[in-house]
Amino acid sequence: MAKKTALITGILGQDGPYLARLLLDKGYRVYGLIRRYSNPNFSNTDYLGVTSGIEFVTGDITDEKSLMSIIKLITPDEVYNLAAQSFVGVSWEQPKTTTEVNSLGVLYLLHAIRSAAPGARLFQASTGDLFGNNSVGGIQNETVPFKPRSPYAVTKLYSYWMTVNFRESYGMFCANGILFNHESPIRGQEFVTRKISTGAAKIKLGLAAELILGNIDTRRDWGFAGDYVEAMWLMLQHERPDDYVIATGEVHSIREFLDTAFKRLGIDDWGGYVRYDSKFSRPTEVYTLLGSPEKAKKVLGWSPKLTFEAIVHMMVDADIARLSGC
Ligand code: NAP
Repeated sequence: MAKKTALITGILGQDGPYLARLLLDKGYRVYGLIRRYSNPNFSNTDYLGVTSGIEFVTGDITDEKSLMSIIKLITPDEVYNLAAQSFVGVSWEQPKTTTEVNSLGVLYLLHAIRSAAPGARLFQASTGDLFGNNSVGGIQNETVPFKPRSPYAVTKLYSYWMTVNFRESYGMFCANGILFNHESPIRGQEFVTRKISTGAAKIKLGLAAELILGNIDTRRDWGFAGDYVEAMWLMLQHERPDDYVIATGEVHSIREFLDTAFKRLGIDDWGGYVRYDSKFSRPTEVYTLLGSPEKAKKVLGWSPKLTFEAIVHMMVDADIARLSGC
C-alpha cells in the first residue's frame, strides 16, 4: 500500500515534532511547513529525533499562494494545522498579527485544500480558551456555548466556525480539536508551565535567585502534548469528521504546578523564590479551564496517559538536564 502523506504546519513548535514522531512511526511521509528564516530553529524537532525524517517546505500560513503551491505539489492525504500565534498574552499586544495567522491563515488553508486537494482531511487546532469562563457545573464540553475572553480566543473562534462551515458547505473532511492546555519539555519558553520548570531548575542550580509570575491562582486542565497529538490523528482516522474536546478532566492551579515542580527538586518551601508582578496579569482573565474528554473517549477510544505529576516531573527533569549540559 502507498505511504500516506501528511502536511504539518507549525512543525517547529511544540506539537509539530510530537505529531511528526507519531506519523513517521506509523509509516507516513511527513512534510513540515516552515517560514523562510535565515536561521530556522530545529531544536524541537531535534529533541524528538525527527528533523531528518521530515521533508521541509517553505511557506507561510498568511500567504495563500504559498499554501496553494505546496498543497498542489504534495497532494496530502492529511493536513494538520498547528500553526498559530499561540500565546494568549501577546494577542492583546498584536491582535492584527494574531488575526492574520489564526483566522485568515485558516481560511486560506481551507481554500487551498478545497482547490488543490479536496479529498484531504484537515485537523484544525482549536482551543479550550473558546469557552472563556463559561461552563456547565464547572465542566466544559462540546455543548457549552463559547464566550472567548482574549483576542487569541476570538481569532480561534473564527477559525473554528470556518472549519465547521467548510465541512458543512462543501462536504470536506475538516475536524476541530478543542485542545485544552498541553505541555512537554519543548513547550515555548513564554508559557507559564515552562517558565516554572526552567525557573525552578535555574534556582536549584544557583543560576537564578527568583521566578517572577502573574496570578498563580488560575486553574487549568493540563495534559501531555504526546498524548494530544494521538487524539489529532485519531480524529482524522474516524469515518466521520467532527469536533472534540481534548482534555484530561482534571484541574490544577499554577500554585500546585509550582509546588510539584519545586518539590521535585527537593525545595518544599518555595514561597521566598516566587515574586508576583502585575505586568504578567491579563486585561481579562479566564479563571478555570476544565474540559471533559468523554466524547473523545467514547467515539475515538482516546484517553490521556500521563498524569499531572508525571508531566511536571518530566519538564523539570528535562530543564535540569539541559541547564546542566547533560
Ligand atoms: P507553538 O509551540 O506556539 O507553535 C506554533 C507554530 O506556528 C510555530 O512553529 C510557528 O512557527 C508557527 N507559525 C506561527 N505563525 C506562522 C505563520 N504565519 N506561518 C506558518 N507558521 C507559523 O504552538 P503549540 O503549543 O505547538 O500548539 C499547536 C497548536 O495548538 C496552535 O494552533 C495552538 O494555538 C493550539 N493550541 C495549543 C495549546 C497548548 O496548550 N499547547 C492549547 C490549545 C490550542 P515559527 O517556529 O516559525 O515561529
